[in-house]
Amino acid sequence: MLNNPIEYLKGVGPQRADMLKKELGIFTFRDLLNHFPYRHIDKTKISLISDIGPQTEFIQVSGKLIRFEVMGEKRGRRLVAEIRDASGSLELVWFQGITWMQKNLTAGREYLVFGRVGFFQGNVQISHPEIEPLNPEKADGKSFLEPVYPSTEKLKARGQGGRQLAKLTQQLFQMLRPADIPEILPEFLVRQLRFPGRYQAYCSIHFPSDTEAYGQALNRLKFDEFFIAQIRMGLTKSERHRFSRGVPFAQVGSLFNSFYTNYLPFELTGAQKRVLKEIRKDTGSGRQMNRLLQGDVGSGKTIVALLSMLLAADNQYQSCLMAPTEILAAQHFESITGLLKDMPVTVRLLTGSTRARQRKEISGMAEDGSLQILIGTHALIEDAVRFQRLGLAIVDEQHRFGVAQRARLWNKAAVPPHVLVMTATPIPRTLAMTAYGDLDYSIMDELPPGRQPIQTVHRYDDRRSQVMDFIRHELQKGRQAYIIFPLIEESEKMDYENLMKGYEHVKAYFPEPAYWISMVHGRQTSEIKQTNMQRFVSHDTQIMVATTVIEVGVNVPNASVMVIESAEKFGLSQLHQLRGRVGRGSEKSYCILMTGRKLNQEARERIKTMTLTSDGFKIAEKDLEIRGPGDIEGLRQSGELNFKLASIVQDRQLLETARELAERLLDQDPDLISAENLRLKNHLFSQYGKTRWSKIS
Ligand code: ADP
Ligand code: MG
Repeated sequence: MLNNPIEYLKGVGPQRADMLKKELGIFTFRDLLNHFPYRHIDKTKISLISDIGPQTEFIQVSGKLIRFEVMGEKRGRRLVAEIRDASGSLELVWFQGITWMQKNLTAGREYLVFGRVGFFQGNVQISHPEIEPLNPEKADGKSFLEPVYPSTEKLKARGQGGRQLAKLTQQLFQMLRPADIPEILPEFLVRQLRFPGRYQAYCSIHFPSDTEAYGQALNRLKFDEFFIAQIRMGLTKSERHRFSRGVPFAQVGSLFNSFYTNYLPFELTGAQKRVLKEIRKDTGSGRQMNRLLQGDVGSGKTIVALLSMLLAADNQYQSCLMAPTEILAAQHFESITGLLKDMPVTVRLLTGSTRARQRKEISGMAEDGSLQILIGTHALIEDAVRFQRLGLAIVDEQHRFGVAQRARLWNKAAVPPHVLVMTATPIPRTLAMTAYGDLDYSIMDELPPGRQPIQTVHRYDDRRSQVMDFIRHELQKGRQAYIIFPLIEESEKMDYENLMKGYEHVKAYFPEPAYWISMVHGRQTSEIKQTNMQRFVSHDTQIMVATTVIEVGVNVPNASVMVIESAEKFGLSQLHQLRGRVGRGSEKSYCILMTGRKLNQEARERIKTMTLTSDGFKIAEKDLEIRGPGDIEGLRQSGELNFKLASIVQDRQLLETARELAERLLDQDPDLISAENLRLKNHLFSQYGKTRWSKIS
């Protein structure tokens, strides 16, 4: 029944069906059923026009249509009507569908009007109201709560606003039987959670008997969305756990052990140890590891990567570590070869600027198996590089890599290598649950000991000279400073000029030869970038003026000041990343966010958040709150996030519950073979197909 095309519904002709498809994507009965009202109005309640006050949002009035006329020309062309009741009059206005409205309105007739109240040049008006002839005997006594559906201006202008959709939906419910919307949750869950049945929930979300019934229905259907998503991800994950084949790292051998006892420069944090244990367990199990490691900036992911690669080498497997930029790849290479300098491990660096001869040599070593660790950028995944026995692929700062790029990496070995994706962009737990619920997932939520919190302040541009004085003070203590300028692609030219101006400005404050400045930006060749970067790393320069190419990973523990120019142009996670470049040594560090005095609300909130906390997870939560999940940088494009009713921000509690219950259910019945889970299984089959539960990411 629900698969019927929408044309089959009484009252929907070809023309109307066309509009519903085009404007709202409603093709079938099911689509209409899942087109949920955004609010309900008490249809018995008709207000007086004089009741409208500055706080009134929506209103329903009835009155006589006094007159209507077309005014204005071209883009200003509009139909203006006046409606009057005993208490006053109100202006109605249409910018679209003017001809249609003109034909269908009759002056002198009584109408029922509903819409959002607006004010225009001091007059109260409703633009694109829902309007229908007043029909006194209409109230059917079944429910006084009338659903209002999202509609479009175009539909409204054709007299097919939310109200008309309500009529169609009512029409639909007259045809539907409870069996058309079967229960999908196991009986015990419905009872345990005291949910209305699924059919009942659908009835009540559209046509509730009262607000309580609506609330219960909404909660029930939101739960279904979360629960189904969690079950699907759980199935994918458990399927991978049970059926995927991975290369076993059976033993912890001499490389790992001798590095651990002789060369580890510090005691590992508890979080680092825990994650290593998780990785060892995964890789030793004979199945393929597909793990996401989230660790805040500075939590020490590199050493975890290194130890994992040694574990691979101990088992005669090769590994690779990919970074998103050449600078980062080079830094990883330096620090890792530094740490391994007295160990018999062969490590090479491969980036876009590696010379052809060297590239060939490296490829040869990868292919004959003599190369144990390869570090690089995406040059790594070029087809020319073939490994003899690739056992572990590590991706640093995963969000810069596309899914397709990762897929190519997976395909570099007969048995897919273990994969460790490391990200320093913390994702709120709830979001991670939904977006990455099918991956194994580790969190490093502990910073190495002895770090001092970074002091973050907000300063206006007109106090720049004080900021410069402060920098000078730090430089005199032997510290180094970053000054970061935004570079946004669309306005690249302007930003570039700002950067140059900024550079000159900084230079005027800090003239050579007393001070030396490095500058790094995206227009330089990678060699120049590299050199300038290197001079800062080796403390030949004291100041680094840069764009965000510096953002990820760069490690200069002696740097104690991070100045971010035009901080309002950066997103929260980017600001957090940038700030993470300082506070890496034992000295107290500072982050100074510079802006003009004019700031919008959102920017103000971002900057305030930065000054209040340095916990990446808290910042991520805030980011989610401000922007919503759709915009979170680097979040994989996941259909699972597009819930129709539920919100991972507002309904966190419900999500946690759904997650927990889904996990428990799958623990007990991983293949959904028990009788009580049969309907859940049928639902999944019918919605998502029989072959595989879902795609492997
Ligand atoms: P990120 O997780 O941001 O990649 P890194 O791996 O670059 O962090 O580590 C940041 C800094 O902390 C490095 O200088 C590293 O040597 C140091 N570090 C890492 N782990 C520890 C530890 N357990 N104790 C002390 N310092 C550590
Ligand atoms: Mg790092």
